[in-house]
Amino acid sequence: MAVNYVSTRGENTGATYSSIVLKGLAADGGLFLPEAYPQVSARQLESWRSLSYADLAFEVLRLFADDIPPEDLKALCRKTYRKEVYCCGRRGEDFSRITPVKWLSGKYDGIGILELSNGPTLAFKDMAMQFLGALFEYLLDRQGGELNILGATSGDTGSAAEYAMRGRKGIRVFMLSPHGRMSDFQRAQMYSLKDENIFNIAVQGAFDDAQDIVKAVSNDHAYKQAHSIGTVNSINWARIGAQVVYYFRGWLEASSASGEEVDFTVPSGNFGDILAGWIAKQMGLPVGRLVVATNENDVLDEFFRTGVYRVRDRAHTYVTSSPSMDISKASNFERYVSDIVGRDAGRVRALWNDVAEKGQFQLTAQEFDLVRKSGFESGKSTHADRLATIRALWADQKVMIDPHTADGLKVAMEHKRPGVKMLTLETALPAKFEETIREAIGEKPEIPASYEGIESKPQFVTVMPADAQRVKRFLSEHVQ
Ligand SMILES: *Cc1c(COP(=O)(O)O)cnc(C)c1O
Repeated sequence: MAVNYVSTRGENTGATYSSIVLKGLAADGGLFLPEAYPQVSARQLESWRSLSYADLAFEVLRLFADDIPPEDLKALCRKTYRKEVYCCGRRGEDFSRITPVKWLSGKYDGIGILELSNGPTLAFKDMAMQFLGALFEYLLDRQGGELNILGATSGDTGSAAEYAMRGRKGIRVFMLSPHGRMSDFQRAQMYSLKDENIFNIAVQGAFDDAQDIVKAVSNDHAYKQAHSIGTVNSINWARIGAQVVYYFRGWLEASSASGEEVDFTVPSGNFGDILAGWIAKQMGLPVGRLVVATNENDVLDEFFRTGVYRVRDRAHTYVTSSPSMDISKASNFERYVSDIVGRDAGRVRALWNDVAEKGQFQLTAQEFDLVRKSGFESGKSTHADRLATIRALWADQKVMIDPHTADGLKVAMEHKRPGVKMLTLETALPAKFEETIREAIGEKPEIPASYEGIESKPQFVTVMPADAQRVKRFLSEHVQ
């Protein structure tokens, strides 16, 4: 029987995997979840130990994508998770395992870094986005039609989306970025693409202005329909599903016996990356603790300490040196809360109604007790922590990590349990954040060979005012 996808706010129309992955939110404003999480037995899990990443991805994803013929899904996984795609990160290393674990020693003993940044844009978002690109192309080919992806980025998401969609049939990407506000590297990464289906638009404003334009266009339903507008944001279920895979891979790498618990720490922003860990746990993977690491924007740390979810306004969303975690609200969080309240859609609606009206909600004591028992913990890291963590790890082990991964490592060390392995998820390579690396250790991060000299390549970008009408006009002119 096909997996039935339902909305956190109650919509239940028998939606399948293929039907929801090309959509964003459900019609009732909620997020899609499988009605029940598929289960993996200990025996099945043991039988996966020797699989390649691609074949493991197939085994996990077929449990969610059961309306795609298995041979097609297997081909999609093998086309995506190969070393020619995940070879961009480090020089002269073995990429055949796609997401190897780098075990640390000494005072870091028992902590491993799950390497997720070997893809084309040097951040973990490639892990899911590359699959999404292949999947979209496949689905569009099967059902006909085209897709114009409109997005806003402050850096990582936009480049991951462009590198995943470039050259794909039936797909165009229109990516808005804040003019003059990204790092030189991030700009070069996106704007140097020459593919005919990639359109970079630099908006004269901040990231929030770009995001508002995307929202305005998405809310114009007639325009959206007429121009086949889609999104690739982190609430897309196909992205979450693909992220579940590397928790299985990580557990298989870290455990030596059936049922052995492994803890995970995850630098978090929109709660997508760590949500995938929660789902893996619900499927039966022996995940012990799931530790949320935040930066100065500590909405999630506050929630896991107090049961109060208090979104921030723009004035209280700080610009930090781990910018991909600078969020005011966590767009995937509703999925976890839905599970905590036993999928009670009325309760989810009431809680998000509180957010809309009062900017916050508070769980009951009974609900918060379920949060505590769910295995989640949290911690926070500041600019000074980030620098100290990068510096100490470099001095001690000659391992260089990026500022987001450093937030994770700082919090992982605070939550490490004796005798239990802790995997901390790598979110990007240091090459993307040169300024902070220099500040921490006084050295320039290593730039992967595939990116050498990128900042001097010609750039292709259209600059325009932060005006939704202008963006719509541009888009209309470029889709025939
Ligand atoms: C996207 C991103 C994050 C945050 O991940 P979420 O899934 O939004 O929690 C953290 N670090 C980096 C480098 C990212 O690109």
